[in-house]
Parts: sequence; structure tokens; C-alpha cells
Amino acid sequence: ADWAAAVAAVRQVAPAGRVLLICHVNPDGDALGSMLGFGLGLRRLGVRRLQATFPGPPEVPEPFRGLPGLELLVPATEADLEPDLVICFDAASDSRLGDLADRLAGPGTALVLDHHASNAGFGDVNLVDPAAAATSVVAEELLARLGVPLDAGIAECLYVALSTDTGSFRFDATTPAVHEMAARLLATGIRPGEISRRVFDSRPFGAVRLFGEVLGRARLEPEAASGHGLVWTYATQDDLARHDQRPYVLEALIDPVRCTAEADVSCVVKQTGPDEWAVSLRSKGAVDVSRVAVALGGGGHRLAAGFTGRGTVDEVVDRVRAELTPGPGSGVAPEG
Ligand code: 5GP
Ligand code: MN
Ligand code: MN
Repeated sequence: ADWAAAVAAVRQVAPAGRVLLICHVNPDGDALGSMLGFGLGLRRLGVRRLQATFPGPPEVPEPFRGLPGLELLVPATEADLEPDLVICFDAASDSRLGDLADRLAGPGTALVLDHHASNAGFGDVNLVDPAAAATSVVAEELLARLGVPLDAGIAECLYVALSTDTGSFRFDATTPAVHEMAARLLATGIRPGEISRRVFDSRPFGAVRLFGEVLGRARLEPEAASGHGLVWTYATQDDLARHDQRPYVLEALIDPVRCTAEADVSCVVKQTGPDEWAVSLRSKGAVDVSRVAVALGGGGHRLAAGFTGRGTVDEVVDRVRAELTPGPGSGVAPEG
């Protein structure tokens, strides 16, 4: 990681220049938390014009509406067209940036902060650490190298990012360094119980009923993935409409599905258009789902990945099943 170049890039524009912060489409806790936490840090350095944005509709998912730094957000349509520095958070490739990808190509410096192993380094300066549990780990280190001390606002954003990407400190990415970072964040006085309740344990009653319906149609296929097992379900736009719910509530749907003890691989297929689906894949370890996702045009990590599928639900799940079956061109190597 090119820390010296990253520090120089920020020092060059603060305080006189213009900085635009961007993150991946359908932003999750790490995308928003690392972006806004770093943004609050930059504000302490003083930046003439500082904006944060993400592609698509400017709606912030309910779990993140309590985040400090939301006042930095502007709709993508109003984002600075000629920033001196663009900083991109938690996006494995510029295809995850929608219409904002062109901001990276402008005359300003493009700085990429990320932790996806598949990130090829599409910025002018790239801080990509596949060993980092979250992009917020990279963001915290860069703030430290810039001499910006943590305050409660920055810490809350980075804590949301760290706890969401580690599954509340349950995944293997939860190293001693992750807990040391959590300790530094908590030392600012933030309240983990209150933050977790807002981010993880609060959803509209309609979403509870919607989950009940969607989980009720889940299918278990013990023979799939070379006998490691597949569990899957789907949710349509009509399901959302009937329960009067916004699409973001489905982000949490993979969690009860992946609890299935009989399946190593779990899959949730969420309708995003007439014949377009956002597919979430999770593995318990036997299968590398990022290979499956990459084979189907997406990406992600070994144990958590996704892609955009077209056609019917059955066609999309058929493709996943095929990639999970060993053979030439599939995402899973034959065993033995
Ligand atoms: P989720 O299932 O939570 O939406 O995404 C899990 C992981 O897969 C994330 O780390 C995300 O980066 C990756 N991912 C999800 N959807 C896509 C996609 O359409 N394209 C790519 N390249 N990665 C995705
Ligand atoms: Mn993310
Ligand atoms: Mn992340």
C-alpha cells in the first residue's frame, strides 16, 4: 500500500482544494461508514469544498440514518464535477460506481481505499489491503498517518463499518488487530449497544412479515455444491410492494438463510428490475463463492460475494447451481 503517496495526495488538497468522496452502489455499512468517518476526519483538516455521495437514488438505508457525517452527503446528480481529489471507498472495481466512475478519470487525483482481493487498483493511488476486515481499517490508518485524532463522530462511523463487515465481530476476519481497532473506537465514548440496535436489530414490522414469507419458500438442496449443500430463496419487487417495504430491508435476508446447518452455500436472489436480480452468495468455507460470482459477472470475497443476474429466478439459480458443480469452467475445483 502506498501510504506516503496517499498522505501526500490529501496534504496537497487540504485545506485549499475540493474533495469528493464516493462509495459503491447500494452502499452498506462499510461503504457509508468508512466514507463518512474519513470525511469527518478530512473536515478537521479543513477542505474548501467537501462532498460525499454514492451512485443511484440518494436515499440512505434506514439502519444508517443515525450515522454522524450524513450532512456531507449530496445526491450524485449534484456531486462536484471537477474535484481536485476523488476518494473511493469499498468498491472492488469502477463498475460498482455507476455514473460516478467518470469522476475518477478527471484531472484530479483518484485515491482508492478498499479491501477486496479482486481490486486491480483502478485509482492513481491505491490503498487496497485484502487482509483488512473492512475498508474502515484502511481509512483509520490513513487518518492516523494524516495526524487526525479519532473523535466520537469519526469513531461511530468507523465502528458501524467494522461491525457490519465482520458480522458483528463473528467472521474469521476478526483478528486481534480488529479488536484493537474496536477498542480505540470505543475509547472515544461511543455506545455499541445503541449503535448495534439501530444498525442490526431494528426493522419495520412489515419487513418481519416479508421475511417470514420469503423464508417460508426457501429451498434446501443437500446434493448441490458437491454435497456441501445449497440453500436459497428469492424476493420479488411484488413481495416488497405487498408489504410496503424498501429494497434495503432485503440486505439482512441472507443472515437467517445462511444459518441453515445443512448447507455450506447460501443464496438470496433479489429482484431489482423486470428480469434483473441482485444475487447474494455466502459460504461457510468449503466453497469459494467469489469464484462463482466472478464467473457470473460479479465479485466479492471468498465467503461473501454477489453478482447481477438476468432472466427468471430459476434461470439465475440454475447458473449458480452449475457453477457450484465441479467441472471445466465452473467456479469449484473438482475434489480428490
Ligand atoms: P452482498 O451480498 O452483501 O450484497 O455482497 C457481498 C459481497 O459481494 C460484497 O463484498 C460485494 O463487494 C460483493 N458484490 C455483491 N454484488 C456484487 C456485484 O454485482 N458485483 C461485484 N463485483 N461484487 C458484488
Ligand atoms: Mn461494501
Ligand atoms: Mn467492505
